[in-house]
Amino acid sequence: MSRKPIIAGNWKMNLLKSQAKDVFEGVKSFCDQYSAKELPTVVIAPTFTSLSVVDTVKCDCGCGGNKISIACQNCHWENSGAYTGEISVEMAKDAGCSYVIIGHSERRQYFSETDEMINKKAKAILAGGLIPIICCGETLEQRESGVTDSHISSQIKNALSGISSEDVAKSVIAYEPIWAIGTGKTCDSDEANRVIGMIRNTVKEVAGSSAADSIRILYGGSVKPNTIAEQMSKSDIDGALVGGASLKADSFNEIIANTMKVASGV
Ligand code: PGA
Repeated sequence: MSRKPIIAGNWKMNLLKSQAKDVFEGVKSFCDQYSAKELPTVVIAPTFTSLSVVDTVKCDCGCGGNKISIACQNCHWENSGAYTGEISVEMAKDAGCSYVIIGHSERRQYFSETDEMINKKAKAILAGGLIPIICCGETLEQRESGVTDSHISSQIKNALSGISSEDVAKSVIAYEPIWAIGTGKTCDSDEANRVIGMIRNTVKEVAGSSAADSIRILYGGSVKPNTIAEQMSKSDIDGALVGGASLKADSFNEIIANTMKVASGV
């Protein structure tokens, strides 16, 4: 089963509108050299305030695909109402998003997001026709005490609870070891591939083999232009969720270019 790679840039709480526009324009002019078929699925997740300066870029070669898709970094599971500071799936869609990142470790750690909330968000996102990018990952303490696999498989089972196999198949998971995020320490690519294989087996257990074969599972944590080729050469790694290196068009474009090189066997 060949899965189209995804390179997603998570801008976190960075870039004012004018800066966001510059980075977006830089990525867009790079992507404009290729068709959507040649490119990986390129996703950019700006802050809510910069959603108005980035936009989906439709491919003009007739393939019907997008060269760039937009994500937001969070949303609420309710449609509307008294939830100060939140936005709904419909609002994300209205702002041009087709993906929503949920369950990022920073949201779990600093905003007390639980597996139950992440499951409600995943269901609302899929019901609204958008795609969740569901993040999971272990702390250094969990890794050192040997509970990485059990912790992550329980995060995944909880996140996907009650979601149909068809919807699971469309979803995206990002494995992001917390100790590798923003630290410059990438997870060894064989180990990342092993954990991602374990996640795929967990998906198979809860949603069947067709969903497990289709779902795209990314690696995240200090991905850089010089780490992506090795990561992308692994059997189960379907792409990357990129933080720091997505804040500059040059480094993000190089990650996209190196991903295309691996995909085309160059
Ligand atoms: P990083 O962030 O690439 O800066 O480590 C990744 C993420 O948190 O998504």
